[in-house]
Amino acid sequence: MSQREWIEKDFYKELGVSSSASQDEIKKAYRKLARDNHPDSNPGDAKAEERFKAVSEANAVLSDPAKRKEYDEARSLFASGGFGRGGFSPGGGTNFGGGGTAGGFDVGDLFGGAGGGADLGDLFGGLFNRGAAGGRTQAASSRPRRGSDLAAEVTLDFRDAAVGTSVPLSITSPSSCTTCHGSGAKPGTSPRVCPRCNGAGVVSRNQGAFGFSEPCDDCRGTGSIIDDPCTDCRGTGVQNRTRSVTVRVPAGVSDGQRVRVAGRGEAGLRGAAAGDLLVTVHVKSDAVFGRTGDDLTLTVPVAYSELVLGTTLSVPTLDGRVGLKVPAGTVDGRTFRVKGRGIPKKSKIGDLLVTVKVAVPSELDDAARDALEAYAAAEKASGFDPRYGWPGA
Ligand code: ZN
Ligand code: ZN
Repeated sequence: MSQREWIEKDFYKELGVSSSASQDEIKKAYRKLARDNHPDSNPGDAKAEERFKAVSEANAVLSDPAKRKEYDEARSLFASGGFGRGGFSPGGGTNFGGGGTAGGFDVGDLFGGAGGGADLGDLFGGLFNRGAAGGRTQAASSRPRRGSDLAAEVTLDFRDAAVGTSVPLSITSPSSCTTCHGSGAKPGTSPRVCPRCNGAGVVSRNQGAFGFSEPCDDCRGTGSIIDDPCTDCRGTGVQNRTRSVTVRVPAGVSDGQRVRVAGRGEAGLRGAAAGDLLVTVHVKSDAVFGRTGDDLTLTVPVAYSELVLGTTLSVPTLDGRVGLKVPAGTVDGRTFRVKGRGIPKKSKIGDLLVTVKVAVPSELDDAARDALEAYAAAEKASGFDPRYGWPGA
């Protein structure tokens, strides 16, 4: 069963109740259907067994108000197409803090390759595996489980982060066993269907009027039995392996941002899809450049005379230097915009914002002092008053 089919399942329909049914109505509907379709009252009836499973599955979600709420939200999101991009994590758990598609940075934009599948995987991780300690739902135990997402961190120089770079990472994690290709069975043999649960991974137990489902002990809920376990992975189908993953970090990544590498997380059990690798990027600060969004910022020290007389400054960029014309009479602290010399993002290239800041000499030699004193006198004689019109005068 694909994840899409899973979310498109209508648990309400399965129990024959409306989506606004009370918890009590759900309970009653489930009890009746579970009793009617229980395998013990319908021996050999595959249809009833199928129905029983579907009903139990629906009840496992709808009978728990918290799970039901998540399911409702997930379905309405799915219906509105909200799964297209971004990290949706209804469990509020591991991945993107439930940020959804609004606000923050656009994950889909950055990751490019991360499709809806990965996001749905996150969803089901939150929805159906959270109850693992208290007994899983049927679906979770009999379905091959997608591998977990793995987390890693990299630290980049400011300029590498600005222009984009590739970073080789060494990741040690459980991976599909190369000897048995993840089946867990010794090469040449294969797992057989568990006879006790017929591969369902769950068995039903009678108690009072109706039955409960619980994980099958014989196969530990996997639905299959391995007679000759692969010796390299002791039958788990998974081995710890160190592998190298090259992470392509797009231009303009900012400090603390996460890059998702689809399918490079932990291997899924028994042939299920692998999880993703989530790389948190740290960006070092730079001695020269700063950043505001996609724009680079830069402060250039200048002499007072350069602002008064005008000059052309040689300004560094991420790619060589450019000449910046400073017109005569420029005020201290003015910011010039150099188009297209900022962060070279694919979608849009930012600008370089150059701010001029007067540097004052702490010492002057005699010639400079004489000239400056002469200048000061001439400036005064010209009628220039720096505090003219200043309210504090
Ligand atoms: Zn193996
Ligand atoms: Zn079994």
